[in-house]
Amino acid sequence: MSTDKCDEKTSCQSCDKSEKCSQEEKEAHEQKLLEERMSFVKHKFMVVSGKGGVGKSTVATNLAITLAKEGYEVGLMDADIHGPNIPIMLGIEDERPGASTEGLLPIVTKHGLKVISIAFFLKSKDDAVIWRGPLKHSVIKQFLGEVYWGDLDYLIIDLPPGTGDEALSVAHLLKNVDGAVVVTTPQDVALLDSRKAVTFTRQLKIPLVGIVENMSGFNCPHCHKPVDLFKKGGGEKAAREMLVPFLGRIPIDPEMVSSGDTGTPLVAMPDHEEVTNAFSQISENWRKLLEGKSKVDSMQNAQVT
Ligand code: ADP
Repeated sequence: MSTDKCDEKTSCQSCDKSEKCSQEEKEAHEQKLLEERMSFVKHKFMVVSGKGGVGKSTVATNLAITLAKEGYEVGLMDADIHGPNIPIMLGIEDERPGASTEGLLPIVTKHGLKVISIAFFLKSKDDAVIWRGPLKHSVIKQFLGEVYWGDLDYLIIDLPPGTGDEALSVAHLLKNVDGAVVVTTPQDVALLDSRKAVTFTRQLKIPLVGIVENMSGFNCPHCHKPVDLFKKGGGEKAAREMLVPFLGRIPIDPEMVSSGDTGTPLVAMPDHEEVTNAFSQISENWRKLLEGKSKVDSMQNAQVT
């Protein structure tokens, strides 16, 4: 790529010299910009699930807030292009991202979380996004490469359920993604689907950080006895069988639904200790695993050099 054609800091879409570049040159340049931007992000994770409705976005959002409350710089990227729910869950669905010379500015929530979602760019909340793979790929590329995330400890990427284009795009664009967290519920059908999610991430060569079992048990508000509405322990069993770390379980809390609808995640509300503690435990297990990984990495590097 000849440098006189290419302003290294500007994306091809806003560069007035870009018509002189070939498609390959533009792609190489955009990938370079993306890698440069992502080099300021210490850890990048995908949150995935084999099927919808298991609480994947709820887990991604509450985990992101838990990490932000612990003092980390956290970004949350809503890569669910067809069903972007994160802004509603955070009560920021009416916000519109601004722009700066550094790029598009993510919305910063009152918890200090930086968020980007396709929902911020839709004219109406009822607009349906009917896009094929290449268009979704281009949006994900812009979210990663053209949003000014700044320095982050964690970038959490909430993917749509299943094994579709978006996960492929993220895996393809982020060469050094730290891994995927699989969210499941304890029933057999959801577990079967989560096994597919585990296989999918393995096929994409994305390391698996672990499994989170959501909607795991329920304490009756009247008699205070535990009720296992969707059974319990299935996620842990599947994690053992598939040799994947088990990160923890989150109980059913009826207020999770209203908190998601009203834009205040449960971990940001007073009380709800059980759910808040569950997320803190998952965050701790996750960080311990990362620490272990970096120790292994540094040992491997030490052996190589
Ligand atoms: P997904 O992203 O997997 O499609 P969502 O995060 O949108 O799922 O959650 C689906 C529904 O389940 C939402 O209404 C959410 O509030 C609810 N939900 C998620 N986790 C819990 C939980 N632990 N207890 C109660 N309701 C939950």
